[in-house]
Amino acid sequence: MKKFILIPALAFSALLTAQEMVKKPVQSYQTSQYKAQKKAFVEKLLAKMTIEEKIGQLNLPSAGDFTTGQAQNSDIGKKIEDGLVGGLFNIKGAEKIKAVQKVAVEKSRLKIPLIFGMDVIHGYETAFPIPLGLAASWDMDLIQQSARVAAREATSDGISWTFSPMTDISREPRWGRVSEGSGEDPYLGSEIAKAMVFGYQGKDLSLSNTILACVKHFALYGAGEAGRDYNTVDMSRVRMFNEYFPPYKAAVDAGVGTVMASFNEVDGIPATGNEWLQTEVLRKMWNFGGFVVTDYTGINEMIDHGMGDLQQVSAMSLKAGIDMDMVGEGFLKTLKKSLDEGKVTQAEIDRATTRILEAKYDLGLFENPYKYGDTQLAAKEVYSLENRKIARNAAAKSMVLMKNENNILPLKKSGTIAVIGPLVNNALNMPGTWSVGAKHANSISLMKGLQENFGNEVKFISAKGANIDYSEKLENIYAAHGKLTDRDSRSKEVLLKEAVDLANKADVIVLAIGESAEMSGESSSRTEIDIPKSQVDLLNELKKIGKPIVMVLFTGRPLALTNVKETPNAILNVWFTGSEAGNAISDVLFGQINPSGKLPITFPRSLGQVPIYYNHKNTGRPLSAEKTEKCEFERFRSNFMDECNTPLYPFGFGLSYTTFKYSDLSISNTKPKGNQSIQASVMLTNSGNYDGAEVVQLYIRDLVGSSTRPVKELKGFQKIYLKKGETKKATFNISPEDLKFYDNNLKFDWESGEFEIMIGTNSEELQKVKITWTK
Ligand code: BGC
Repeated sequence: MKKFILIPALAFSALLTAQEMVKKPVQSYQTSQYKAQKKAFVEKLLAKMTIEEKIGQLNLPSAGDFTTGQAQNSDIGKKIEDGLVGGLFNIKGAEKIKAVQKVAVEKSRLKIPLIFGMDVIHGYETAFPIPLGLAASWDMDLIQQSARVAAREATSDGISWTFSPMTDISREPRWGRVSEGSGEDPYLGSEIAKAMVFGYQGKDLSLSNTILACVKHFALYGAGEAGRDYNTVDMSRVRMFNEYFPPYKAAVDAGVGTVMASFNEVDGIPATGNEWLQTEVLRKMWNFGGFVVTDYTGINEMIDHGMGDLQQVSAMSLKAGIDMDMVGEGFLKTLKKSLDEGKVTQAEIDRATTRILEAKYDLGLFENPYKYGDTQLAAKEVYSLENRKIARNAAAKSMVLMKNENNILPLKKSGTIAVIGPLVNNALNMPGTWSVGAKHANSISLMKGLQENFGNEVKFISAKGANIDYSEKLENIYAAHGKLTDRDSRSKEVLLKEAVDLANKADVIVLAIGESAEMSGESSSRTEIDIPKSQVDLLNELKKIGKPIVMVLFTGRPLALTNVKETPNAILNVWFTGSEAGNAISDVLFGQINPSGKLPITFPRSLGQVPIYYNHKNTGRPLSAEKTEKCEFERFRSNFMDECNTPLYPFGFGLSYTTFKYSDLSISNTKPKGNQSIQASVMLTNSGNYDGAEVVQLYIRDLVGSSTRPVKELKGFQKIYLKKGETKKATFNISPEDLKFYDNNLKFDWESGEFEIMIGTNSEELQKVKITWTK
């Protein structure tokens, strides 16, 4: 049996030292001399270009991963030769990418190199936890590190541009893509957006191991009605600016090089053709200087939105501020005609072309078009042991312990454990959704991880117990993108009996249930957010045996766990944890790593509560705090007759194997004036039996405003490591910047008045102090 050398949970630091952590936008390292040189270079090149070549730079086809030989022969190969392609995506492998680049720089008239994109969303071949899982770590250095590893792997394999981070705020668990974002909170989402951009783009974009990032999907893609993917969004501007825009803006402020437009409409106009959004907000208000790419056929889809024919929607998009057209070729096919007919101007085309060329210049592609992609380096870098160790650590730190009755976890390293569930032996599903570059088959399944790490001490026995869903039709839909679920053709009774017989021989049951990987992700909306009945039946059957049950929850979205919560003795939410899933889950189950994840999104009691989020408004008829807590209905207050107002698990919630005690909340000045800063601090003690980490959370409520204000807003957090028995002080600096919001006239400022300062372990368990801050 192979043994892993376990990494001490708290001392782990690999790849990025504190000095290597990026804290400033990459552009801030660009001198005015550099900028002048870039401008001169691009202007000179632009002057040599024909109108067709200019429009060609705006064209981004998908390669469909064509092989080297096809580079010269295919339709795309021919277009590259003719200078009609600016970039390419969905092509993997240093050799293939080099061969295609060779066509661009040797056969096209102006030898302009291509940019190569890919959805490197949560790691490249080494898959990290899905973004919602990574967000649950609340560990910005770790998140930056994950993006850095992804950048190193992808660039060594030829990729120069990633379509990440996705920073769409979402309060909609029905929406499958909630898995790809950072959850519901604008502040946490903004911090993560920055960490990702810094990790990808590093300190210098022209290095061969940093990658151009792309914040997406601009904007509001996470707010589609009923959580149905691509659906209509309708939202007030006040809400956009205060609640949904901040993470995109944070990515822009962090120097993200590109932005992707979203599929949905914004204020009645598709985002792709929305000039207010792509120019007024993005360029004029936020000073974005990079280029904007559409989402996949985003321009063409405006025809179905009802905005006109291909020529019309292409012209509208260019004018709105779109620079690159992904896949649809609307620009390629119609812009010249629109120019001839006076429907777009030469300046508008030049503007977009300039932005693409400038990005290529920043990447250093004109100096060396082959700088990304080196087979020898890729062999060392991609899916390396070192990277997998980092992914394993990130995975363990993303898990959220939701229940731990009688401290059943961590498990004892002895006896017999029955490992049951539809995915326990399934490697393909472990990386989770949007893992195009991952080595799925090589991922560590739960059973493999347990055997390899603890197989000497513990006897593990396994059974499937149930299929993902009783419905074969649904399970086939779920098993998209090759992520097969190994559906078992035996009857449910046979599967259950096998599991029960096996469980009877064990001391403890580890029951892994929930979703399969592609039940979340793009085009994976659900109208129910429960665990499928086949698996709930399995849980209930096993419960009858009377053995302790540890439920390992696989999920890409918040699930309504009300009907299962009471049954198991422990619940560990592992999301989808990436290549190292089985190892990382083993690390946590057996206490090599103490879980420290906290929910970045609310888990509702039932779907009927959705949207449910911690930073809601108070309304004019709030239910009293007391009744809310007791779940008592009161007529003519804002509540439900048949359900509590509180969620099952609030935002920021997560347990540990140890316990933490909060005391002595103190404020340096409870009557501050003007632009000074104050400090809020709390004493945190590790009062339990394990070393561990706690995410201390700071919330603020603006009690009276010129517009209604949320009941609380996250304004700071610190992940603090404490040895057992240790006490540390957590101090937050608060300045008027933290009090600012967009008012009804979209003026961003703060207002004098009373504020509640709250610190605690999650968005509900908080200590409070009231202060008065005057201008
Ligand atoms: C998705 C994007 C993705 C693009 C390219 C689209 O369907 O919405 O997030 O980057 O495809 O693969």
